[in-house]
Order: sequence, then C-alpha cells, then structure tokens
Amino acid sequence: MILGKTLENWYASHPLIRDLVALQETTWFNPGVAPAAQALGDVGLTAADVADASARLTRFAPYLQRVFVETQSSGGIIESDIVPVPQLQQALAERYGQALPGALWLKRDSHLPISGSIKARGGIYEVLKHAEDLALAANLLTLEDDYALLDSDKARAFFGQYKIAVGSTGNLGMSIGIMGAALGFQVTVHMSADARQWKKDKLRSHGVTVVEYASDYSVAVAQGRQQAQADATCHFVDDENSVNLFLGYSVAGERLKQQLAAANITCDAQHPLFVYLPCGVGGAPGGVAFGLKLAFGDHVHCIFAEPTHSPCMMLGVYTGLHDEVSVQDFGIDNVTAADGLAVGRASGFVGKAMQRSLEGFYTVSDEEMYSLLALMERSEGQRLEPSALAGVPGIARVLADQQDYLARVGLGSEAMAQATHLVWATGGNMVPADEMDAYLAKGRELLAKG
Ligand SMILES: *Cc1c(COP(=O)(O)O)cnc(C)c1O
Repeated sequence: MILGKTLENWYASHPLIRDLVALQETTWFNPGVAPAAQALGDVGLTAADVADASARLTRFAPYLQRVFVETQSSGGIIESDIVPVPQLQQALAERYGQALPGALWLKRDSHLPISGSIKARGGIYEVLKHAEDLALAANLLTLEDDYALLDSDKARAFFGQYKIAVGSTGNLGMSIGIMGAALGFQVTVHMSADARQWKKDKLRSHGVTVVEYASDYSVAVAQGRQQAQADATCHFVDDENSVNLFLGYSVAGERLKQQLAAANITCDAQHPLFVYLPCGVGGAPGGVAFGLKLAFGDHVHCIFAEPTHSPCMMLGVYTGLHDEVSVQDFGIDNVTAADGLAVGRASGFVGKAMQRSLEGFYTVSDEEMYSLLALMERSEGQRLEPSALAGVPGIARVLADQQDYLARVGLGSEAMAQATHLVWATGGNMVPADEMDAYLAKGRELLAKG
C-alpha cells in the first residue's frame, strides 16, 4: 500500500505514475492552471515583497562589489546574461526529428558571480537578509548607510557571534557558505551523500564546517534543522520552506523583463515566452516562476524539468499530495548525476503556492542530460553542469503537444512561430576543469551512440 492505495489503484487514478515508476521520460501539462490574476493569490506574497527584496539587494550592492571583485562590472548586482542559442536549436530539431519554430535563448545563471549557480540568487539573498536584520537590531547599521562598512573587522566580529546552518546537495551550501563566511558568520553545511567532493573542499577552504551524510538530501536537511533548533544563535536556512529564499529567486522576473526589452524581444499574447526551469526541491524554480508571473502575467509559460529518477514536484502536484508523497514511496530511487535535482520530496510550500501557475512538468534521463551537455558545448561552446541541461528538451516537449496543451492555453501556430523559449541554465561555471572534461567525455560518448 502507498498512502492508502495499492500501486494498481494509483495507476488507475493517475496513469502517468506508471511511466514515472518505469523511469520513462514523461511530460505532463497541468490542467489545473489558472489565470495569473487568480493563481498569484495562492502564494501569500506580493509584488511589494519582491520589490522589498530587490531594494535590499541594491543596498548590499556596494558591499558585494567591494568583497567580490567579480561583481564589480555589474555594480555589485548578482545577475546573469541571456544569449541566443540558434545552433543548439538547429541541433535539437535534428536530434528530436521535429520542427522547432520560435527563438531559443539561454539564461546563464550557470555564470552567476560568487557561487556559479542559480543558488547565488536565493541563497545569498537569505544570508544578506539575516545579516541586515541582525545588524539593524544591534545599531551596527542603518538603512541609509553605505553597506560597504560591513567589510570591516568590527562587523565580522559581530557576525562571528552568530551561526548559519543549511542542508544541501551542494550548490545551496556553496552560496550560503561563501557568503556567510565572507560576512564573518560561523557556517555549517549539512551535505547529502551525492554532493561532489570539490564542493566540500571549496567550502572548507572558506572556513565553512561541512558535515557529511551517507543519506540523501531530505535527511541532510532534517539533521541540519534539528541541530540548529537547539541553538538560539543559529539561523537555519530551510530550503524546503523558506520564504526568503523564494523571494531572493523571484527578483529575477523583473530583471529578465528589462533584459528582454533591451534585446528587443517582445512578450505579449502574440509573442509568448516559455521558460524551462530545472527543479529540485522547488524553491529556486518556484521563486523565479513567481517573479516571472508577476512581471509577465499570462504571457509567460513556466515549465519545470526534473530527472527521471527524482520527479518529486511533478508527482506532488500531479497527485495533489505535495510534500506528503516522495518518489521513494513509489520505489523511485532518487539517484541522479544532476546536482541540485536529487530531491525525493518536493517543498510543500512551493507546490501549493505555485500549482496553478505552473503549466507543465517533464522528466529527463541522466543520459539525455549528458548528451545535451555535449551537444550544448559542440553547438554553442557553453559548458554547463548536467542539471543545467534539464531545461533544454522543453521546447520540443511543448511543441510536440500542439493539440492538447497549446490549444488549451490558446496558442496557435502563428503565436508559436513568434515565441521565445528560454532555457534556464542553473549551474556549471565553477565545475573544475577535470570534472567538466569527464562530463563532456561521457556526453560525447552517448551522443556518438545516438
Ligand atoms: C538547486 C539547483 C536547482 C533547483 O533548485 P531547487 O530550489 O532545489 O528546486 C537546479 N539546478 C541547479 C544547478 C541547482 O543547484
């Protein structure tokens, strides 16, 4: 029995579970979507909350610019660029034997400064928010100050009285650890078994305490949460439930709007924008999608991508059980090479907040992510980590489903010819050269096999 029903009963009521259990690549377009005006009401946060987060990041910009040289060119704002990837689009059309109209673009969060992944948005934001709260309460800082003053021995000694803890498969720990340690916090990162050695080494080199677990992400988070609870000076960054993480990610929406405008890309009813977001626990893609819906309303179409071995958000939204169900309940092993996506149980907060805003979910095999990693490098010269490729097949999944989903959201071939498809590349820049070579070798081998 699984949550009160036999597997056969589950297959009868929710047929796609059969494909998920068989680890087949699966696509599901969500019939429960609602217009943005209604769906955004589910979130419990507003545009004012996102604007507040954005203003906070602006206050910290002088500090970041001073402490992290790589943010100097952007004035201390942590943002990535967008680039067109027409050669990849061509290669995908050949690979999938399918016409792919519209324009394919890449959002390079893989190259975000400081920690080289999408986690540089939410993770760093939450640390900054916590630091600001503490410093304001202690009269170490006022909202009008130049926050560069936090780059001082006095401020570091102050933050040194406090601890930050987080459970992570790697990238969140990197963002929290690097940022927290720079401010002077005592940071502990609870790492799941799948976390890469180089990420642990890097964190330790920054003075971060890394605790390693033999089990998966959920256990690392639970252990971290438990240890933090026992200590009043410790702030736990709760990847499964944090509103601040979510808000840090959501700032991306307004910024993307400016970037598209600058690139002369229209987004309206006749020029839809599709965004493909790799999903682990859901905070990063959920927060970004929230910001996108606020910025573009019904003209943006957000689709989540997960590994075939870890389809937790699809399972949670599809069954309506959210965090009450895990992929392991159905015998799916949650073992994947896609860092950051090896999550068996989705965030209940994000699933419930965003279930009427997310139009589709699909799964990708590890082999396909590796193949696409090599194809991306060959066609566009972009080097990404495997998880960052999960968004790439999205354009083909959407266009293969004209009848059902596209008809339902009212998009015909005319609009689709003018669509922009944005693949959110979530990580890769900090992968050591020898690891990247190994990824590429594996991907090329798979590509050669076809
Ligand atoms: C964390 C991560 C994601 C997904 O973010 P969640 O908040 O876990 O859903 C996607 N890609 C990479 C590279 C990540 O590190």
